[in-house]
Amino acid sequence: MKLGLIGFPVEHSLSPVMQEAALKAAGLEGTYLALNTPPAFLRARLQEVRRDYAGVNVTIPHKESVLAYLDELSPEARAIGAANTIVCDQHRLIGYNTDAMGFISGLDEAGISYRNKKALVLGAGGAARAIAYALQEEGAHVAVYNRTLERAQALCDALGLHLVRESLLEAAVRSCDLLVNTTSVGLQDPHSSPLPAGMLPRAGAVVDIVYNPPVTRLMQEAQNAGLPTLGGLPMLVWQGALAFELWTGVKADVRVMYEAAQARLNETVRL
Ligand code: NAP
Repeated sequence: MKLGLIGFPVEHSLSPVMQEAALKAAGLEGTYLALNTPPAFLRARLQEVRRDYAGVNVTIPHKESVLAYLDELSPEARAIGAANTIVCDQHRLIGYNTDAMGFISGLDEAGISYRNKKALVLGAGGAARAIAYALQEEGAHVAVYNRTLERAQALCDALGLHLVRESLLEAAVRSCDLLVNTTSVGLQDPHSSPLPAGMLPRAGAVVDIVYNPPVTRLMQEAQNAGLPTLGGLPMLVWQGALAFELWTGVKADVRVMYEAAQARLNETVRL
């Protein structure tokens, strides 16, 4: 079984070690290749996938642009406007978005509740769209704040979410049950945070989908304030496990995927 990851760049991705560990644990023959794909090469890469692959993951910068080349979309991928997983079924390309349910599975695993809760999503990029969609589908009341107001407005309009303007950010943060950072602030930088110091929920959980560093400054501040926190690794592992199940029809061994991803992360974390 030939699998892979389409992105640019993909050299530092944790997906190859994680997916190859899952294949091995399931007793399946196969490889998962990091397919470095500059935008100009996307069309040709998808022809190659259609010919030779059982499926691929898709990452930055192709999650949205890839839709134009697919034969079919899952309802999630269509609503989110992005696919992170493609199944190749008899040379037909079917797009899915496992980031959405991967995020929810991570919350479930950690015992963080969201149904009928007030969730505030920071950011309005691709990850924010998937997470806001998933939370809303699962019964949360979702609000969005983003540095660029127009982008947040577009996301709120598309999914029917509540827009938070800068003047009301502090009140929205304090009163939410679940705060989710989906911005790239904090990525490979333990000193930066998407919020001013001390601006935290009064009693809610704080999730940061950045997984490098494993504890971001936002999470550290939340932990210091005694709030429950969750990092980005669970979402990464669960989106991968759900993709694996779509390609193989076999349940993924999530524990070995965690171990493989964690081991690679320990090798690559340079702060
Ligand atoms: P994206 O589409 O490029 O969106 C980036 C978001 O970050 C935008 O909302 C952007 O705001 C905001 N942002 C960037 N720099 C900022 C700054 N200095 N101050 C305030 N806001 C800033 O990226 P994405 O695909 O959504 O990914 C976002 C992050 O999620 C990345 O760190 C990625 O690694 C992580 N991620 C993790 C997982 C996982 O499985 N754990 C999955 C997907 C993504 P503007 O609109 O104002 O530019």
